[in-house]
Amino acid sequence: MTTIAYPKVQLLIDGEWTDGTSGKSQDILNPATGQSIGTVPHASKADLDRALAAAQKGFDQWKKVSAFERYKTMRKVAEIMRQRAPETAKIMSLEQGKPVGEALLETNLAADLIDWFAEEARRTYGRIVPARMSNIEQLVIKEPVGPVAAFTPWNFPINQAVRKVSAAMAAGCSIIVKGPEDTPASCAELFRAYVDGGVPAGVVNLVFGVPHEVSEYLIPHPVIRKISFTGSTVVGKHLAALAGQHMKRVTMELGGHAPAIVFDDADIKGAVSILATNKFRNAGQVCVAPTRFLVQDGVYDDFLAQFVETVRAIKVGPGIDPDSKMGALVSQRRIDAMEGFVADATQRGAKIQTGGKRIGNEGFFFEPTVLTDVPGDARILNEEPFGPLAPVARFSSYEEVVTEANRLPYGLAAYAYTRSAKTAAALSQDVESGMLSINHHGLSLPEVPFGGMKDSGYGSEGGLEAIEAYLNTKFVTQAKV
Ligand code: NAD
Repeated sequence: MTTIAYPKVQLLIDGEWTDGTSGKSQDILNPATGQSIGTVPHASKADLDRALAAAQKGFDQWKKVSAFERYKTMRKVAEIMRQRAPETAKIMSLEQGKPVGEALLETNLAADLIDWFAEEARRTYGRIVPARMSNIEQLVIKEPVGPVAAFTPWNFPINQAVRKVSAAMAAGCSIIVKGPEDTPASCAELFRAYVDGGVPAGVVNLVFGVPHEVSEYLIPHPVIRKISFTGSTVVGKHLAALAGQHMKRVTMELGGHAPAIVFDDADIKGAVSILATNKFRNAGQVCVAPTRFLVQDGVYDDFLAQFVETVRAIKVGPGIDPDSKMGALVSQRRIDAMEGFVADATQRGAKIQTGGKRIGNEGFFFEPTVLTDVPGDARILNEEPFGPLAPVARFSSYEEVVTEANRLPYGLAAYAYTRSAKTAAALSQDVESGMLSINHHGLSLPEVPFGGMKDSGYGSEGGLEAIEAYLNTKFVTQAKV
């Protein structure tokens, strides 16, 4: 087993690492053991005020830096991330629970994201609109929106933060991130790369604290011009409402409950393999994880048999152990949630095909679980499971499955497996989700949009749209004199 030292976690305010002034902190637990591995300091109001002043100063400076210079700095940061990725991945695995291989992919993808946003920063074009009179010039100008407050969760401690920080920086904004208190050290490694890559003090700031205290202080603050949040729909609605009261721009990347539809004409072996891998990645704690498995009558038995066999073979263990294919859940909260979903479903008549229980009593391990015969009113078919639970149900017709796919208020990701081009084309029109992946799992690359609709939020965290979210559009019209 690999052993690693867990770094001291601090706040980053105005380019300096600090314990802050509140004197308060909370324990960080290793999910594989349930034991404390460190502490994370909580920011006081005075710390937040310093961060706000730093973000204002950082913005005043960074917005004047040319897109080309921003690009050069960001590319340096990406290289530092790559160099440090093996160590960073171990830190992430230790505090978050995911297998170290998954953590390494996340860290390297973060470097790709920084590169992509760095390059795209050079293409934030304005335009000239032809005027109705020859002496008039009409310009459309893109400007950075201003200092940003962002709130990022524990499931992808680097990935959820890097999307926001990189898009903001690319646009010329400064940012304060309230990082995840459950998994703070790997998120802090990202910020260490920004500092070491030469990003000026105040442009990027990292704080931790009591989430609602920090968000309720930062969102209304006049310095902050834009809010970005990744997390649950309940919290997202609360923060979006608060932002609305203060007329702040908002990006919301919230929960999902993704249908994974397998039609009679699908490649079943391929579908089983891809869906099982992506269902149990990060122990199912993924907003775009497939969570409602809908399988057509003709292939239902075959799919279920292969799927259950594949799931039974998943090796669960400490993420830091290279043999583990699925690690622990992040916290006791998630174990309680899984036990609640399973108890509710079985009380209503659901059958457990495999799994269904916590593993041992050390750490937060839960069995990869497949459920069938789950009634439609069971909690797991209505609330985001956010864990290693896969309910499988059968359907007969296209119309029936599209109705089920669109039944919930969520609309983040959806998956489908079919060899019919006609079915694929129809799905791309009929499914209400921000992202649809057909015959493969192809979401969340830097260059493509990433975001939801309905209760899954609005705005995008990838592609061109992600930078646009950090830009104001200004119109200037001028008569030549
Ligand atoms: P939670 O609702 O307590 O917290 C979710 C996230 O929101 C955490 O990062 C938390 O720090 C933050 N948060 C909570 N209240 C906040 C507030 N008032 N202001 C600012 N931030 C706040 O739940 P949890 O047990 O940590 O996570 C479970 C649920 O969260 C899941 O069911 C899932 O729906 C959601 N979640 C979604 C994502 C995602 O990628 N969309 C990531 C993590 C968690």
